Amino acid sequence: MSLKHSKPGAGKFTRAIHGGEMDPSLFGEVSIPIFQTSTFAFPTAEEGAARFTGERPGYIYTRLKNPTIDALERCVADLEGAYAAAATASGMGAVSTVCFALLESGSHVVASEVLYGPSRVLIEREFSRFGVQATFVDTTDTGNVVQALRSNTRLVLLETPANPTMGVTDIQATADIAHDAGVILAVDNTFASPYLQRPLERGADVVIESCTKFLNGHADVVGGMVAARSETVYKRIRHALTLCGGTMDPHQAWLILRGVRTLPLRLERAQDNAMKLAFFLSDHPKVLWVKYPGLPDHPQHQIARKQMDGFGAMLCFGVRNGVQGGRTVMNHVQTITLAVSLGGVESLIEHPASMTHTGLSKEQREKAGIFDELIRLSVGCEDFEDLRDDLDRALEQV
Ligand code: PLP
Repeated sequence: MSLKHSKPGAGKFTRAIHGGEMDPSLFGEVSIPIFQTSTFAFPTAEEGAARFTGERPGYIYTRLKNPTIDALERCVADLEGAYAAAATASGMGAVSTVCFALLESGSHVVASEVLYGPSRVLIEREFSRFGVQATFVDTTDTGNVVQALRSNTRLVLLETPANPTMGVTDIQATADIAHDAGVILAVDNTFASPYLQRPLERGADVVIESCTKFLNGHADVVGGMVAARSETVYKRIRHALTLCGGTMDPHQAWLILRGVRTLPLRLERAQDNAMKLAFFLSDHPKVLWVKYPGLPDHPQHQIARKQMDGFGAMLCFGVRNGVQGGRTVMNHVQTITLAVSLGGVESLIEHPASMTHTGLSKEQREKAGIFDELIRLSVGCEDFEDLRDDLDRALEQV
């Protein structure tokens, strides 16, 4: 079997639609089948033994490998420009697998001070129990990364654009700094997705995705992915994942595969809406500030231009009357749904300080720019006019 659409130079729309398909298919099926099986029969004991040693290819057991999950891994690896990818049970499964695979007692991590709340909590409170040290810095200024590196640093972890402040970090510059010190760079690419940003092409060694978000895009499944640039790092990741067992289920993989097929279409539409909403909010008298990488006044607008193929569908803003004003907006939207998560066809609004980022102390949040007044908006694919009018009506109540 070979990959059907692995021709170099195929476009991103083509690869998102056909990325995981194999040639030949079993029965000419157009949708990749769900191989909902935990184990695979061996024709002989010798064949089973040969599969275990790796002498012969073939499936053994779904925690190790499964054809439907393989298809999703091939598709995402292709989109990310990776050597290979490993699918995890959730985005947090991807973050924890990377930490488990690449860190050990006594090692040190340099991470963005703005990370998805639980990612920071995982490193700061859980991995610290095993002797892992961490320094959280503002990575949008790469000088801070240089300052934070130590002789025992093994991993630099960043999110760009960052959840929820929308800060943008220069991936290539950070990769150069990390590599000069012999350190691995991992980038959580969830806010951009591989359609808009491919960190591995800019020197990162590992990419983390919460597939729950843009890759799937329909708010109906949770999943994650780790993609690696080299075979060596990929093997460490795969080994850790297989042992810890936070693997994906075939049905989950199939749903995400179905979602990936429309990733480019959805993101084009959503980011067009996001750009228009960012300008609309910037001009609104009740809105005090807006952070969207596509706005010329975003502090890292030029870096976003350089490393992203589009500015994405996430933004954050603050309104008059601080926290209370924000709550009023969230309580009065109707088309937009008040819920955490992001990256779906439906627009979602949430309040990081009291929802996704409650694992951080107020002091940590404020240092990282996650102010109590900050509202995060995941822009979906609805009609722009409906989203604009919905926000306008809600802002009128402030
Ligand atoms: N990384 C980022 C940037 C996220 O926003 C999230 C979830 O919101 C995660 C990781 C965790 O993903 P999951 O909820 O799929 O575990």
